[in-house]
Amino acid sequence: MSILPNAHDSRSLGPADSSAETIGNRSGRSNGNALSLVHAPDGAAMASEFIPDGVAVRRNGHSRAQESGNRPLQVIKFGGTSVGDAHCIARVMEIVRSTSRDSDLVVVVSAMSGVTNKLVSAALQSEAGNYPAAASILEELRSQHELAAQTLIHSAAELERLRQKTNSVLQEGSDLCRQTSLSRELTLRARDAISSLGERLSAPLLAAALTEHGVPSEAIEATEVLVTDDCFGGAEPLMDLTRERCEARVRPLLQNGIVPVITGFIGATLDGELTTLGRGGSDYSATILGAAFCADEVTIWTDVDGVLTSDPRMVPGACTIPEISYREAAELAHFGAKVLHPKTLRPLMQTHTPLWIRNTFAPEKTGTKVTPEGSLNDGGVKALTAFSDAALIRVGGPAMASVANVLARTFTAIAAAQADVLLILHSSSQNDVRFVVPSALAKATVEALRREFEQELAVEIEDHITLDSTIGIITVVGQNMGEVSAIIGRTFNALQRENVDIIAIAQGSSDCNVSFVVGRNDVKAGLLSTHREFQLGLMEPEEFPTK
Ligand code: ADP
Ligand code: ASP
Ligand code: MG
Repeated sequence: MSILPNAHDSRSLGPADSSAETIGNRSGRSNGNALSLVHAPDGAAMASEFIPDGVAVRRNGHSRAQESGNRPLQVIKFGGTSVGDAHCIARVMEIVRSTSRDSDLVVVVSAMSGVTNKLVSAALQSEAGNYPAAASILEELRSQHELAAQTLIHSAAELERLRQKTNSVLQEGSDLCRQTSLSRELTLRARDAISSLGERLSAPLLAAALTEHGVPSEAIEATEVLVTDDCFGGAEPLMDLTRERCEARVRPLLQNGIVPVITGFIGATLDGELTTLGRGGSDYSATILGAAFCADEVTIWTDVDGVLTSDPRMVPGACTIPEISYREAAELAHFGAKVLHPKTLRPLMQTHTPLWIRNTFAPEKTGTKVTPEGSLNDGGVKALTAFSDAALIRVGGPAMASVANVLARTFTAIAAAQADVLLILHSSSQNDVRFVVPSALAKATVEALRREFEQELAVEIEDHITLDSTIGIITVVGQNMGEVSAIIGRTFNALQRENVDIIAIAQGSSDCNVSFVVGRNDVKAGLLSTHREFQLGLMEPEEFPTK
């Protein structure tokens, strides 16, 4: 296996340099504005469960490794496109090999790209009673993994061992799909178990390929180490237990020079039932494990150069941001920047572990460093993000004006639907509440609201709970952005230039974002125009606009 041209020298992935002295109090602050507010993305992020008792936050720029005299420990995660085929996996192997020269490594891996979508579709086909369609998806996945294995692994014994593992994982999948298809019921547990198969196939593949190429590795199913609650489809880690399991199961491998390759996206309850952390959740797996091991750094290797000023698929001129704060990155993720799962920053908030976002396909580039405070000198608008797949729900109208506790009852219904609210607008004088949720959760949220207000609505002809599925959100993100009114004014002008109507504006309780609700079809034009307005595509790191 050859070293990739210009492969980034692992020494430049050096120890953490956070100079944070204290753990900031980030509890959500009210902006005093009763009419509009944005849900603070990671207010819960500061929960102390991510920091073990007796573990000091890094001080004076000393990393865990420097403090203990050990080799640094890095958690590195590879996303779906990074392991999309044998060629991509060869690049991943180079990065692992080069980084492992100077650091102990814990590797976290996603399913090969597209695989989880196919598995979800197999689960849905099974629910519809179409087992043959599900089985044919599983066969497709077998071929895909077999092809990659044959390209990467030449030892017959190793290939056979891997084939047996693949067979047993796919057999489990097939049994689950058959049961689902017979009962025509897709339980949350079964959905998680089926959609987890991709990681359970990719981790053994990568570990076997690494081992064959001289990097001793072992695949580990995260069900062995990442303990979660039983919120299937969006489980949360139980950090103390996770830490204990990581020490018992993974630490000995590190001590013996073996690279553990752990499945992202999944965990298990205390009873051993498989859970998933939610779609895109491998990023979260990486930072949970980073916190559990008190890693010196966590790196998310993906298919873009880092965190960019906007999604490059929407804004071709978007630039890489060299350094960004936890808060800004969390806001971007919360408001739709797919490069990070929305919960990614949570586990690091108290350990102050630096997070890097880097490009598997351009490892010579430095990427983006996400640090507790961001770059000392910068302020102003840092990036834009958009959420095209959103829905605006309104609870209001004349009949609601006299109903007591509308706000509290609305929140109760939202909680029942487990909907993640992106932003809320409220007019207390008229009992009018509008809020935006991801489209996928809109129907369940409306149903929960109708149940909650059933009595009041029974006598009404007019519908007081309405759903608008034609909207999107553009969010301007940055810390110390300066005058919010100036930011709003400039964004307003930029949107107006493209004839984009603004349906609502909401300023975040964190003072770190301002969101504009617009028509879904206007999102792209609005993003491009606003990106130009703040000159985000042209800027050098020191030139972030301050207004
Ligand atoms: P992975 O498979 O590595 O997890 P994802 O597809 O989940 O990768 O995330 C990477 C994608 O995120 C990029 O290809 C890009 O289109 C998208 N993206 C959205 N917003 C941003 C942003 N601000 N910066 C970088 N990438 C972004
Ligand atoms: N494979 C999972 C998904 O596609 C998790 C991840 O990629 O982060 O959602
Ligand atoms: Mg991802």
